[in-house]
Amino acid sequence: MELVERSVNGITMHARVRGTDAPCSRCQNTSARVHGRYLRRLSDAAVSGARVVIELLVRRFRCLNDACPAVRSPSR
Ligand SMILES: [Zn+2]
Repeated sequence: MELVERSVNGITMHARVRGTDAPCSRCQNTSARVHGRYLRRLSDAAVSGARVVIELLVRRFRCLNDACPAVRSPSR
């Protein structure tokens, strides 16, 4: 966890996916080309009466494998 914030509303945990590359979800080819990033709210649960939210900063990688079905997809 990168940072834990406590407030009257509950606890927010900010997390970040580590590493400079990631395998493609379609072909498992490792890519280091960061395509963008987005914030994902993982869970919203109550622990001991406090609201807990985990915000995960996820990086998107663009697959560089020409033979990958994700790359060849017309919806690219
Ligand atoms: Zn791929």
